[in-house]
Amino acid sequence: MADMMPAAFIGHGNPMVALEQNRFTRAWSEFATSIPRPSGILAISAHWYVNNSAVTAMAKPRTIHDFSGFPDELFAIDYPAPGDPDLARRVIEVAGPTDVSFDADSWGLDHGTWSVLTHMFPKADVPVVQLSINATEPLAYHLALGRALYPLRSEGVLIVASGNVVHNLGMIDWSLPGAGADWAIRFDDDTRTTMNNAPGNLELLVAHPDAALAMPTPDHFLPLAYIAGLADAASTTARTMIEGYDLGSLSMTSFVVDR
Ligand code: ZN
Repeated sequence: MADMMPAAFIGHGNPMVALEQNRFTRAWSEFATSIPRPSGILAISAHWYVNNSAVTAMAKPRTIHDFSGFPDELFAIDYPAPGDPDLARRVIEVAGPTDVSFDADSWGLDHGTWSVLTHMFPKADVPVVQLSINATEPLAYHLALGRALYPLRSEGVLIVASGNVVHNLGMIDWSLPGAGADWAIRFDDDTRTTMNNAPGNLELLVAHPDAALAMPTPDHFLPLAYIAGLADAASTTARTMIEGYDLGSLSMTSFVVDR
């Protein structure tokens, strides 16, 4: 069997991160240069949060600018990575019996994916498919689907989930750049403890006393369930790639499953 490709959860934060160079973006690019070249990337983004699980299957996925009120520079970004219909079919196969639909023409690569990959693979020369987050399902469904993706790691596929452990836009405090509120730090600490020790227990975080503030909606947290599931399927844990906060209510914490 080929070596296992690592898998990662990236805390992406503000879309402007695509244009910045900071300690987080450096950690992401250092991770990408530390691993074997992937045959393809399966990206799981918080920003494709719909009523089913689907995988992009177009040969040339479009770059989606799914935000408003940001500078033209951000709208000008193109991430022209090719798609990989065969990889999309393989994702559907390993996910079975969970139903994942083949998206031939609707989505593409949204900013949850390209704001991260533009730092990890700036040449956009590795094929990328994106998996949606099924908003109708509980965390256990996403953990199980993450477990099911396990065989892809020995096929050279890099799985990158992009979201945020703590993501509450309503609680953003512009006086706290680079810092987290107490509740955000408590939730992030306990998430790191879980991922570093028993990722299969990620569901316990849903009942955490700070969960209502940390994830008022679960879209940014759920990508983490895929990486927790992958770690659990490999009977291993996830290490913290980098940790940190921004604007009080965002956590930039990222994780890696090495083995
Ligand atoms: Zn986001």
